[in-house]
Amino acid sequence: MTRPARVVLDAAALTHNFSVVRRCAPGAHIYAVVKANAYGHGAPWVAGVLSEAGSDGFAVACLEEAVALREAGIAARVLLLEGCVDDAELRSACALGLDTVVHCEAQLRALLAGGRVPGRALWLKVDSGMGRLGMDGAAARAAWGPLRALLGTDQSLGLMTHLACGDEPLDSYTDVQLGRFDALARALQAPLCTAANSAAVLAAPAAHGHWVRPGLMLYGASPLQGRSAAALGLRPVATFQSDIIAVKCLPAGAPVGYGRSAVTQRPTRLGIVAAGYADGYPRHVAAGTTVLLRGQRVALLGRVSMDMLAIDLTDCAAATHGDTVTLWGGGLPVEEVAAAAGTIAYDLLCRPAARVRRVVQGG
Ligand SMILES: *Cc1c(COP(=O)(O)O)cnc(C)c1O
Repeated sequence: MTRPARVVLDAAALTHNFSVVRRCAPGAHIYAVVKANAYGHGAPWVAGVLSEAGSDGFAVACLEEAVALREAGIAARVLLLEGCVDDAELRSACALGLDTVVHCEAQLRALLAGGRVPGRALWLKVDSGMGRLGMDGAAARAAWGPLRALLGTDQSLGLMTHLACGDEPLDSYTDVQLGRFDALARALQAPLCTAANSAAVLAAPAAHGHWVRPGLMLYGASPLQGRSAAALGLRPVATFQSDIIAVKCLPAGAPVGYGRSAVTQRPTRLGIVAAGYADGYPRHVAAGTTVLLRGQRVALLGRVSMDMLAIDLTDCAAATHGDTVTLWGGGLPVEEVAAAAGTIAYDLLCRPAARVRRVVQGG
């Protein structure tokens, strides 16, 4: 017997979402963002599928993630979004042929001292107003010439930034950031620019530049507030499921779960599902949060435990031991469960734990 908690992965949905990126940003190259184990979907699997689909490259948060891609046989360009943290990483990046980022003076000094640039592209990252990684305009102008002098003939220097309000399409702050970024790009005559995450791919064509960096939308979740993934033409790639491992009948007034925080309001048919917070289901969800069972929404009852959660089957007479329960994914948007848990889809997608099997649909 294997634990029934599983993430079912849909390669066709992933390929479809990638084609939406292509359609939205037809002139741009794509670094498909596969950091954090591809937002929990399995970076080797995602990179394999998207290599087939023709992704120009991949982007990761750290060297370990880049190594995992190379070990999985991914030969495409891989971008280290935060650059190298020390000289050892810089040497590894050279050996693995990784595109890198230089976002601060320390990285700049290390690159200049090392005397060579890894990969095909080096991205000078500027902080156009996010207040996270990146140099200010003056530092970037000073760094540009020395960095360009380091490049080999087959390498290019690009300008990079990250947008703070990409998820609010009408936010004028995106225009402020892009205005600063474009002015700097013109002043430096930067041959390459990259600014767009998923939200900007979908809602800010002016940000597309030469390379886009979509993450969330590839996995079929919406990066835009108030716009559903379905309305954006995106399909969920991961469906988090488990099975009912017990069914029981309780009288009205019976406590359910830890702390007796819930008490049945009526004679209740209770289902116990083999998925808890240690599997990645959020412990703090609002009362009345639902799962999907036989095409029907069914509400949780009581607290989520480490390995299990309870659902109210009273109004789902057909439900039985062994039934599949969808926690989020196909038929139950992850954004909805995220809202019920007071968080965002990004957070939930990354959560399914190591003990949760990944099963490729039809694979
Ligand atoms: C994570 C990340 C992205 C992808 O963002 P999404 O909102 O998931 O599309 C792009 N660029 C950088 C620098 C990132 O850290």
